[in-house]
Amino acid sequence: MGWLVLISLSAAWNIVQVRQKQHDIYLQNGRVIFDLIVTTRAWNSQHGGVYMPVSDEVEPNPYLEVAHRDLTTTDGTMLTLINPAYMTRLIAELANQQDNINLHITSLNPIRPANAPEDWEAEALRIFEERVKTEYTGYAQDGDTMFFQYMAPLITQQSCLQCHEKQGYQVGDIRGGISVSFPVAFSMPWALLFSHLFFGVVGGSLIGVFGSKLGHTIKILEDLSDLDGLTRIHNRRYFDEQVKREYLHSKRNKVPLSIAICDIDNFKAYNDTYGHPAGDECLKQVAQVLKQVLKRPGDLVARYGGEEFGILLPYTGVEGALELGGLLCANVEALRIPHKSSEASAYVTISIGIATYTGDEKSLANVIKLADLALYKAKAGGKNHVEHMLVTRTVAHGN
Ligand code: GH3
Ligand code: MG
Ligand code: MG
Repeated sequence: MGWLVLISLSAAWNIVQVRQKQHDIYLQNGRVIFDLIVTTRAWNSQHGGVYMPVSDEVEPNPYLEVAHRDLTTTDGTMLTLINPAYMTRLIAELANQQDNINLHITSLNPIRPANAPEDWEAEALRIFEERVKTEYTGYAQDGDTMFFQYMAPLITQQSCLQCHEKQGYQVGDIRGGISVSFPVAFSMPWALLFSHLFFGVVGGSLIGVFGSKLGHTIKILEDLSDLDGLTRIHNRRYFDEQVKREYLHSKRNKVPLSIAICDIDNFKAYNDTYGHPAGDECLKQVAQVLKQVLKRPGDLVARYGGEEFGILLPYTGVEGALELGGLLCANVEALRIPHKSSEASAYVTISIGIATYTGDEKSLANVIKLADLALYKAKAGGKNHVEHMLVTRTVAHGN
C-alpha cells in the first residue's frame, strides 16, 4: 500500500510538473508575441506613423485626428496614415486569420469603442493600474477549445504623447494593454503515466510476494525461537515468559496456578546403557506424551533443562494438579520404553514436583523453588511419582 501511495504521489507530482512546463511555454509564447507587437508599434511611432495605400482592408482611421492623415500621390494613389494602434489592429486581423492568435489592443479609457476591454482584460488592466503585477495569465474555454490568455500593459512613451497627450497621459502612465490569446491543449503525459503504472504494479507485486515470504519466514523464525530443537516442544525461554505472564494473571484475578517440574528417572544411566542417540529419542517420546496429556488450551509443557520439563497449569488447584501429575507419570511409563538400569521401574519413568500458587506465596521464584523441592522429595521418595509441597500421592502404575 505504501509503495502504491508513493507511486501515485510521484505520478501526481510529475503531472503537475509537466503542466507547469506547458504553462511556462505558453507564457513564453505570449511574452514573445507581446514584445514583437510592442517593438513593431515603437518602430511605427518613432516614424510618426506610416502611410499605406487606401483599400477595402485599409480605410482611413476615423479616430486619428491629425493633419495630413490622408494624402494623394502625384499619380493619384490615395494614402492614409497608419498609427501604432491601427497597425496593431491590422496585424491582429492577419494573425487571427492565419494562426488563430487573438491580439487585442485595449484600454479602460479607449478612443475607439471597439477597443473596450473584455471582462478578463478589464480585470488585468485594473491589476496593472494598481501596480500589483506587470503580467496577467489565465485560461478560458471557448467551446471545445481552451485558450491561454496573456496580457501586459502598454507604458506611455514620449512618442505616444503626440496622439495621447490630449487624454491626459504622461510618460510612464499605463495607457492600456495588449492581450494575446491562443488555443492550447494540455497533453496527458501518457508515457510517464504508463511507466508509473508499470513500476507500481511490478514493484507492488514484488513487494507483495517477497513481503509475504519475509513475513512467513519471520513467523517461522519466531516460532523456532520459542521451540526446543530436539523435542520440538516449547523451550525454556518461552516457558519463563509464560510463567511470568500466568503468575501475574493469577495474582490479579485471584485464581490458582500450578507449576510442575518433571524429571526423567535415572536418565544418566539410560544414556550409559542405551547410548546418547537412544537417550535423545527417549526425550522426544516423553515430550510428546506430556504434550498429548496436557490438552487444555492454557496448559503448557516446555523443555526446562536437559531431561527436565516445566509444566504450567493455569486455573488448576492442588487437587487438579496432582491428578494431572499422576496421569503424566502413568502415561510416560505406559510408553514402555525399556530401562533396565532404572531404580524405579523396568521402563522409563518420570518424577514430578508441583507447587500451586493460591495467592499465599510471596513470589514466583518461591513457587518454583517449592516445585523444585517437591521434585526433590519425589526423587528421594522412590521416583516415578508426583509430589506436592504439602500433599503426597503415589501413582498406581500398571507394570
Ligand atoms: P535422577 O533420577 O536423579 O534424575 O537421575 P538422572 O540420572 O536422571 O539425573 P542426572 O541429572 O544425574 O542426569 C541427567 C542426565 O541427562 C545427564 C545427561 O547426560 C542427560 N541429558 C541431558 N540432556 C540430554 C540430551 O539432550 N540428550 C541425552 N541423550 N541426554 C541428555
Ligand atoms: Mg535432572
Ligand atoms: Mg533425571
